[in-house]
Amino acid sequence: MKLMVKKSRNARVMFRAGKNRDGWFASEDLLLQVDEAINVFKGCAPFVTGLFLFNNAPSHQKRAPDALSAHKLPKGPHATWRQHKGGPRMRNTTFKLGDQMITQELYFPDDHPTMPGWFKGMEIVIQERGLWPERGLNAQCEGFKCVAKKTNCCCHRLLFMQPDFVAQKSHLEELITLHGHICAFYPKYHCELNFIEQYWGAAKFHY
Ligand SMILES: [Zn+2]
Repeated sequence: MKLMVKKSRNARVMFRAGKNRDGWFASEDLLLQVDEAINVFKGCAPFVTGLFLFNNAPSHQKRAPDALSAHKLPKGPHATWRQHKGGPRMRNTTFKLGDQMITQELYFPDDHPTMPGWFKGMEIVIQERGLWPERGLNAQCEGFKCVAKKTNCCCHRLLFMQPDFVAQKSHLEELITLHGHICAFYPKYHCELNFIEQYWGAAKFHY
């Protein structure tokens, strides 16, 4: 759902969670709220870098729709594969070749004579990086259960381990760092470090 965030100096959102109420607070809702929080922060402290801290919840780690993802990519180009299911195309990326940073498009151009807009396939993407081994590679080890510490046993593992794919941030972190602030996540399963626990405690005490 789209949140209505009031234009004011607070980013508080009234949300009645539940199936027959406002639904569930999804990652898109959080992004809108954080965007508003950044605006409020900018209004209060325009030249200060903010530190935004979040629980290490899966919804906070969700990536942008066009983020790099090595999941479920086909090995070769195919007419039926032009983007991840239900998503837009992945963004262009960069990788290092020798001393140079190379920009890589992951899809053929839209005016390509035979494969317009198709995903290039993992093999070509890897070849363009100069990493394709002579012996070739399977798309994926069975069940993606690669041998421990192997980084080039299959196409999926190799791409998965590429620095640009590894460095892909969550949508939340991208939003915050885009505004010049810092985003950090509490360590998993250490709720005692999270100040919100004090808030919950105080709220329970009062009500
Ligand atoms: Zn593998």
